[in-house]
Order: sequence, then structure tokens, then C-alpha cells
Amino acid sequence: MLSTMQDVPLTVTRILVHGSLVHGKSTVTTWTGDGAPQRRTFREIGVRAIQLAHALGDELGIGRGDRVATLMWNNAEHMEAYLAIPSMGAVLHTLNLRLPADQLTWIVNHAADRVVLVNGTLLPLLAPLLPQLRSVEHLVVVGPGDTSLLDAVPAGNRPQVHAYEELIAGRPTRYDWPELDELEAAAMCYTSGTTGDPKGVVYSHRSVYLHSLQVNAAESMGLTSHDTSLPVVPMFHVNAWGIPHAAFMSGINLLMPDRFLQPAPLAEMIESERPTHAAAVPTIWQGLLAELTAKPRDVTSLKQVTIGGSACPPSLMKAFDEQLGVRLVQAWGMTETSPLGTVAHPPAGAEGEEEWDYRITQGRFPASVEARLIGPDGSVMPWDGRSAGELEVRGPWIAAAYFGGAGEEPLRPEDKFSPDGWLRTGDVGVISDDGYLTLTDRAKDVIKSGGEWISSVDLENHIMAHPDVAEAAVVAVPDERWGERPLATVVLREGATADYAALRTFLEARVAHWQVPERWAVVQAVPKTSVGKFDKKVIRRSYADGELDVTQLP
Ligand code: AMP
Repeated sequence: MLSTMQDVPLTVTRILVHGSLVHGKSTVTTWTGDGAPQRRTFREIGVRAIQLAHALGDELGIGRGDRVATLMWNNAEHMEAYLAIPSMGAVLHTLNLRLPADQLTWIVNHAADRVVLVNGTLLPLLAPLLPQLRSVEHLVVVGPGDTSLLDAVPAGNRPQVHAYEELIAGRPTRYDWPELDELEAAAMCYTSGTTGDPKGVVYSHRSVYLHSLQVNAAESMGLTSHDTSLPVVPMFHVNAWGIPHAAFMSGINLLMPDRFLQPAPLAEMIESERPTHAAAVPTIWQGLLAELTAKPRDVTSLKQVTIGGSACPPSLMKAFDEQLGVRLVQAWGMTETSPLGTVAHPPAGAEGEEEWDYRITQGRFPASVEARLIGPDGSVMPWDGRSAGELEVRGPWIAAAYFGGAGEEPLRPEDKFSPDGWLRTGDVGVISDDGYLTLTDRAKDVIKSGGEWISSVDLENHIMAHPDVAEAAVVAVPDERWGERPLATVVLREGATADYAALRTFLEARVAHWQVPERWAVVQAVPKTSVGKFDKKVIRRSYADGELDVTQLP
């Protein structure tokens, strides 16, 4: 028997219309670095999004399913693109501006982007790539920039160049939005994969809509129209974790950092604009903590900070609690999971140390994300907090495949999708009987020593709790006797000296003695990927090439 309910497609168009009408007075504030932030209401953003859709459709000939790329910082115009492009039936393709040139070129060609919206400040990055970009017909330059850089591009390869404001000015402020199927593509994002070609994840209108509801939920980020969110996480990194679309649903005000992502301007914008929520990877919060320790600012407006993208060291969480009175809440997710997978709010009644035990996990799954752990022998492991396995997930905002390329079939590599359709995350961990996930490693980063697994993340967390250590990354290196052993690379705090024996003693009090690394090296910085995660393959390569100054303790 069928239900008697209406069948209304869940689309980004509905989000756009809702935000502009119901939360028309909420604002998007973009930091400009000159003391005069740019402010726009949701209503203004909604109208400008309509004008952008007209410009793209009527002037540039963009139609249903066409890819429109953005190479932009977090700002109001990027928000307009986030709403306009999917609503008109085209596909928003966010480009990661930190990728190396060859990968960026590959991605634009693979997606067959017809238009690129680019911040003027990023033209130096894009202009040299243009001769290799086969599908790009139009460049829309947003904000000031040196367009003479485009003169060097041979005429035959040069797309038509438009200025954003001129392009949208005077366009109609109403749009007869198309009736979209909720399963049509709304947006796409390529993973910053460490092996093989980058892989495109294509989000549907339905997945964006449902994910936005969950982002706003109290036990996720809890975004409401009474609050202001500062998404430091880039809009090119899994749609800024879903915050922009979620904002147009809940009406939360947005504070956009644009290109001012260094600790000092971040501290300044928090102090003056007083956001209540923020989101970024641990590296950003490490930097901010150091900045605030050196030069205190008032950041007490922050009620909750979502931290994810890589494991959050418990020492960082405690420092934010104790020194700044700011609560970091860990979340786990991937490009393939939109990204919201888990959020670490402790259960009712957990206090003191018990509360901390929950806060340092990756968190609980929302109702729409099903999870299972697959053990080394391929069997499903119990949720007992001890049995480790690779995490597999499924749900309405989890990828079922990767984009195969224009006109090509989707890709379902066996190492990423199980035969029964679950996403293989490549993350290894345990789940407690009350549903809290604790990740111990990436499958490829686990250290296999003498038949036992050592968690590199666990070692890092302990080492980073030492007062002399600013950052630490642990990788597996080959060992004749044990197969693999951990190598600890550490970044020392200013003024500290390397005392490996002391670090070893510190660790011996915290982990099993056979897990304690013998090999140690001080590095200037831990190498990071384009989205701020520890880049362990670079560390392994430096070790293999003999570039690290390694001390081996007896
Ligand atoms: P990406 O698709 O680039 O966002 O990378 C996703 C990967 O980041 C996951 O598969 C995890 O390995 C890692 N990751 C994300 N959040 C966390 C977290 N809270 N703790 C540990 N690893 C994380």
C-alpha cells in the first residue's frame, strides 16, 4: 500500500527559495582584510543567485547537467554560485586551489567544465593552466585581479573572459526554476586521493538536502538562525562540510574568511565578528592556539567548534577547553560521505573523565549513516570497543560510485565499494556498544610490527601531549626483525630541544612498551596535503631517501 503523502523532490532550489524568503535578514559577511567586511543579506544573495543563473543560462548557454567550476575562496559570491548553479540544473564543481597544476588540469578536463568562476586573486594560479584546459569556454572573474595575465594565453586557447559583477548586473530577479529530479547531480568534488587519478564524487540534490538537515541537527553542528558560523574549512573541501547549504536552511549567519586563513586574521575576525560556531581541520586550530597564546584575543563567542578531516589530538581539545573556554567537537567524514559521518557529542550523563573518553572518539553515527566493521578475515566485527576492522558505511548521502567522465559509466573500484554496495572507507577502528567510533588509523598507515598492529594516531596523540612537542607524525618504516616499526617525526615547540630519551619515557608511561618507537627525527614541519592532513607518504619517502636525521635509541 502506498502512502498518501506528497512526492516533493528534495532540491537545492528549495533551499535557495527558503533561505531567501524565510531567513532573508540573515547575513553573509566576507572578510576583506581592510577593516570593512562586505555584508550581504540572504535575500540579496538569493536575488544575485537568480541573476547569476540568468547570466549562465541566457548569456553563456549553460544548460542542464553542464559543469560549472569554481576556483574560489569562501566568500559571498561563492555562496551565490553554490545556490544558483544547482538550482538551474547545472552542476557546481568546486576546484581545490591547493592542488598541484597537473592534477587541477586533469580534474577540469575530466569533469569537462564549460565555465570557471575564478576569484581575481587566483588568476596567477589559473592562467598558466588555460592552454591545457580543453573544455573551458568562459572564465568569469570575481573581484579584482590582474586579467593581463590572460594575455599570455594563445588566442586559440583563450576562453571568453567576463567580469562577474558586469555579467550579472541588470539581469531579471525572478527565475522560473526547472522541475528537477532529486537524484540529478547538484555538485561535484574530486577527492585529494593519494594514489591513482583523483576521483570525482557527484552529490545529488537529494543528498545535499538531507545532509543539510543533518548538519543543522542539534547533535551534529546544531546551526540555528540565532548563531553565526565561521567555515574556515574551504568551500572546495567537501562543500565546506555542508555548512553553506545548511545555512540557507537554518538561517545561520555566515562569516566567510575569504583568503585570510592565517592565524592572526582568523583571531581578529573572531574577536570582532563574534561567531558562535566555526569549523576547520586540526592544523588550523593548532595555529590559532599558538597565535592566541602569543597574543591573546577574545574568542569566547565560540560556543562550539567542529573539528575534523584528520584525528584531533586530545591535547588540542583540552587546551582549547582550559585556556580558551572553547569546546572543540570532533567529527569524522570523507569527500565520499558529503562529509558528515560521525560527531562526538558525549551521551547523556557522561561527566568528568568519562565525558572526555567520549569526546576524544570520532563520535556517533546519525540515523541516516549505517556502519559496519570488516575484520582482517572479511567477517563483520562486533561493536564491543575492542574488535578492530575497516569501517564500511552506507546511507542517502554516501557515494555509491565515482564519476567516470563525461558520457562514461560510473566507476566502482573494488577497494572502495563492497559487492553489496557499501563504501569502504579505508579507515580502521573500533565501535563501542553504544555506537561511538574510534579510529586507530588509515588502513594504509597502520604499523604492522611482529604480527601486531600499532596505531600511528594513538602514538601521535600521546607524543603531541608532551609540552616540548608542537606536532608529531608517526609512520611505519621497514624493520628487519619486526617487519615494520614506528618512526616518530616531531616538530618541537619554540625554545625546546630534542630529548628523545625523555620522550620515550613519557610514552612508556602511556602505551605498551613494544609500541614505543626507537626511531626519532626532528622536522621543521609535518608535510601536509592540499586539505591540511598529515602527508605520510612524503614522510615515508623522505625516510627511504635518507633525507631525515634519524636517531635510533637502543
Ligand atoms: P577527505 O575525503 O579528503 O576529506 O579525507 C577523508 C579522510 O580523512 C577519512 O577517510 C579519514 O581518514 C580522515 N578523517 C576525517 N576526519 C577524521 C577524524 N575526525 N579523525 C581521523 N581521521 C579523519
